[in-house]
Amino acid sequence: MRLSRYFLPVLKETPAEAQIVSHRYMLRAGMIKQQAAGIYSWLPLGYKVLKRIEEIVHEEQIRAGHIPMLMPTLQPADLWRESGRYDAYGPEMLRFKDRHDREMLYGPTNEEMITDIFRTYVQSYKDLPLTLYHIQWKFRDEMRPRFGVMRGREFYMKDGYNFDLTKEDALHAYNRHLVSYLRTYERMGLQAIPMRADGGPIGGDYTHEFLVLAETGESEVFYDSAITELRFGNRDIDYDDVAQCQAILEEFTSRYARTDETHDETLFHQQVPEERRRRARGIEVGQIFYFGTKYSEPMGAMVVNDKGERVPVHMGSHGIGVSRLVGAIIEASHDDKGIIWPEGVTPFHCGIVNLKTGDAEADAACDAIHDSLVALGLDPLYDDRDERAGAKFATMDLIGLPWRITVGPRGLKNGVVELTCRRTGESQELPPEKAVERIA
Ligand code: ATP
Ligand code: MG
Ligand code: MG
Ligand code: MG
Repeated sequence: MRLSRYFLPVLKETPAEAQIVSHRYMLRAGMIKQQAAGIYSWLPLGYKVLKRIEEIVHEEQIRAGHIPMLMPTLQPADLWRESGRYDAYGPEMLRFKDRHDREMLYGPTNEEMITDIFRTYVQSYKDLPLTLYHIQWKFRDEMRPRFGVMRGREFYMKDGYNFDLTKEDALHAYNRHLVSYLRTYERMGLQAIPMRADGGPIGGDYTHEFLVLAETGESEVFYDSAITELRFGNRDIDYDDVAQCQAILEEFTSRYARTDETHDETLFHQQVPEERRRRARGIEVGQIFYFGTKYSEPMGAMVVNDKGERVPVHMGSHGIGVSRLVGAIIEASHDDKGIIWPEGVTPFHCGIVNLKTGDAEADAACDAIHDSLVALGLDPLYDDRDERAGAKFATMDLIGLPWRITVGPRGLKNGVVELTCRRTGESQELPPEKAVERIA
């Protein structure tokens, strides 16, 4: 992509309304535009990151054996009356009527709808286990939308739902989600720590939230610092292997880690030696729940078991805040010049800065670098504008691409370009082909 043909409305001034760094950088880098409180347009650069995060979530869910689908954003109120949540949910739910006076709502989550789909088509235990998920916009009329996409009113969420014959099977589904989430966040360059949490309006006895530690996080958390040394890495996982998934759950959840809702100071002191006790703040980027028959019983989602009896299915639901993650990743990875995208989610793999646009040799060298990166399946952003070098560097630093190749007449005389790593700031001079090789 050539910057001269792209749409990247970078702001020079820091927007006054943004209180935290991710919101500031997302506005300045032209990633989002607010349209109403907590409601955003995703401009091309922001949209690219959102899509990369979504892709990783899909890949890891499919790897775990979960099946993608798509439910609508709008739902009939009647479904929510069946579960009893229509009245319980409160003012966070956006309710309205259509022209025929039918009560509708913009879905804040989809337990009811997925349970309705399940009961329509599935009658036998032989069709279990089953986990369906979708990635779809949600609406919650948050009391205080703030921090940009971190607490939006309209936000993008992956929500998955498991259906199992027994509690034991449903707990395996729970563990499978925990494992797949660990992998998902690590691929985004994040450390998200599973912590014991509270069920909230979804309900349930078993629940973990995944938290990214950050000073700007809205949750207060308490944990054993030894947890931060755990890495999931590139393990071979058999998601059908009950013992393996259970072992990973134990590895990642046996140490003390809780949000303030479930924090127990006495237990904290008993379980964690003083030098490892941490009290910090975190951003909730996901949550998993097992809630048994909370929805299947009132809504009649039953299957016939091997003894011919009709029994309600055991369920859980599992969410990832896809749009919140864009902000969370920036909170975890930036410096005073701008964003530093982890390779896994970067909107472009590499920036190319032409120090002398219009110079035949520099133009040709940039074109050649651009084309060879594209030929390798990479997505470069070439700043071919007629601008000062300083302004070009500032833009590249702000939008945070992992690599920058700087091309100018002086270097080209010696057959070299400059390759700069955004994270370390280190530069080296290399022949253009070598620079391309390094990025690939
Ligand atoms: P929070 O505690 O931040 O209000 P929640 O516990 O209400 O979140 P869940 O119902 O667990 O949210 O939804 C799953 C995920 O969706 C959350 O872990 C979070 O990452 C994301 N999410 C929830 N509310 C919002 C929001 N208003 N804006 C952006 N993402 C959100
Ligand atoms: Mg909430
Ligand atoms: Mg929460
Ligand atoms: Mg939650």
